[in-house]
Order: sequence, then C-alpha cells, then structure tokens
Amino acid sequence: LQGRNRKKKVIDKLTFEEIGGQESAKQELKEALDFLVRHDEIKNFGIRPLKGILLTGPPGTGKTLLAKAAAQYTNSVFVAASGSEFVEMYVGVGAGRIRDLFKDARTRATKENKESAVIFIDEIDVIGGKREGGQQREYDQTLNQLLTEMDGMYSSEAPRILLIAATNRKEMLDSALLRPGRFDRHIQVDLPDKKGRRHILELHAKNKPLEDNINLDKVAEESYGFSGAQLESVMNEAAIYAMRDEQNKIAQRHMSMAIDKVMLGEKTDRESTI
Ligand code: ATP
Repeated sequence: LQGRNRKKKVIDKLTFEEIGGQESAKQELKEALDFLVRHDEIKNFGIRPLKGILLTGPPGTGKTLLAKAAAQYTNSVFVAASGSEFVEMYVGVGAGRIRDLFKDARTRATKENKESAVIFIDEIDVIGGKREGGQQREYDQTLNQLLTEMDGMYSSEAPRILLIAATNRKEMLDSALLRPGRFDRHIQVDLPDKKGRRHILELHAKNKPLEDNINLDKVAEESYGFSGAQLESVMNEAAIYAMRDEQNKIAQRHMSMAIDKVMLGEKTDRESTI
C-alpha cells in the first residue's frame, strides 16, 4: 500500500503552450481530444468511443507533458502511474493496483466535480509486453486486469476515463493492447527538429537571465539529436556555469559548455551501463 501511495503522483497543471516543438503530436492529440469531448454526438452516431491513446517515442521527448496537457485541455483530473509499479513478486498484487488506479481516478474526478479523468501509464511495455505462445508470466494477470478495465470503461456511469500510455518500444507490445477499442490511436513523439529545439530552449530560458546577444538558433543547431529533457538540462547547466563564473547573466559560452556537459554526461551514462 505504501509503495502505491508513494508512486502515484498528482501533478500540476500544464497546457499545450508550455510544450516546445512536437507540433504534429500536439495537433493529433488535440484532434483526438476535440472529438472525445463531443460524447453525446459520438453516442448518437453509434461511434465506438476512444479509450486509449498510445504515445510512442524516445525518452524525454515530452510524452508525460502531453498527457498532462491533455488532462488540462479536457478539464479532467490527471492520474499518473508507471508500468514498473505494477510488477510485483506476488501474483495478483499488480492486478489489484490496476483496479485501484481506475477506482482512484473515478473517485478523484467525482470529488473534484470533473466529468472525466485522464489516466497516464508510462512504460506500458513493462506490463503490456508480448505474451509469447503459452508462456505465462506472473504478471499476466496485471495485463488482463488492464484489458478488463478498458473493456468496461464505458459500461459504468460518468466520470469518463481516457487512458494515455507511453512507451519507447511499441514493437514490444502485446497485440491485445493494440486492438480496436483498446489503444487504437497512436501518436509518434519524436526527437525535436531544430525549430522544436529552439522552442524548447526558449521555454526553459523564460525564468533565466540571458545575455542580450545570446544566439539560441546556434544553440539549437549545436544540440542536434537532443531530447527536450536534455535541452532542459542544457539551460540548467548553463545557468550553473554562469553562476560559477560570477556573472549576472548566461552568456553564449556557458551554453556551449552546457551542451558539451550534457553530451558527455550521456556518453558516460551509456558507457557505464555497457
Ligand atoms: P520518458 O519516456 O523518459 O518518460 P517523456 O517523453 O515522458 O520521457 P517528459 O517526462 O515529458 O518526457 O519530459 C521530461 C522533462 O523534459 C520535462 O519535465 C521537461 O522539463 C523537459 N521536456 C521534454 N520535452 C519537452 C518539450 N517538448 N517541451 C518542453 N520541455 C520538455
């Protein structure tokens, strides 16, 4: 119980405007959400309601941010969990946690007077990995419970639930999760391009003093291949370098040093895991 309470986090509000780049992912997500809120029409037309959206792409590209923004956009409560929280030694514990997650989301929505809840499950591949022919893993029950919850999502009264899951390894997912009526909307969240990187840098520079002549285009160019999370680190490290330098503002050289540091840090991390 303790573990469950510790890990399930309630996170602050966030809008799509606070997410840099990712224009097509934002657009696709908003379109899906716009459709979702027209629930009466959906019902009239006999359209199968959208239950799950799968966000796929490398780590640190803003998948969690997109899920949070989706909750804000649809005026829903936001409940987040990670696939690894459901993997337990004892059979049935993970399944129980899935049940609680859905129950919690409904309770919170009702308490806060909201019509809907967004449940975000990061690292869905941990519980939703492919089930190889006949081989039963002890946490198959967890996946089965998730499928059961998804199937029953609209048989119960409001609050409605939208499930958003994220993975870096879509090809690993069990086909049961990808079937129509489950996670049938997939949105790719790629590493940002140069324009996206610049946008992300600008967002993370907002609360930082920058020299007037700083060239963020150049920084965006030099940070090719960086994720949003790495760009956030670059801005943070640059501020640290400026402070160490006894300066009042962040200069271009601090940005370049920060890029090197983040790049090197990643390399060292990778080497240490080999
Ligand atoms: P993971 O797959 O590792 O869970 P993720 O794709 O969910 O990663 P987030 O948790 O959304 O990534 O991003 C981590 C942090 O990186 C954010 O809190 C934010 O500071 C920064 N970040 C990532 N992407 C963006 C973005 N597109 N715009 C602004 N900040 C970003």
